[in-house]
Amino acid sequence: MELKLLDQTSYPHDGYGAGSGTIDEYIYECPCGKGTVIYEKDNIPGFRDRSIHSTCKPCGEKYDFGRGTATQKN
Ligand SMILES: [Zn+2]
Repeated sequence: MELKLLDQTSYPHDGYGAGSGTIDEYIYECPCGKGTVIYEKDNIPGFRDRSIHSTCKPCGEKYDFGRGTATQKN
């Protein structure tokens, strides 16, 4: 299912010696509507990483989250 985007923010980051970058954060509404799902993307030269986590424990156990999507676990 598609998650609803609630907010999007971007933080400047000094970087790790190869120039500065940003950390982009996308906040989505949890499938149950009670929590949020946070997708964080590091946009820093030489250091690109992404993470996604839910603030809602029941949904975290029930779904696998992607960027703006939730897939029910078997
Ligand atoms: Zn939830």
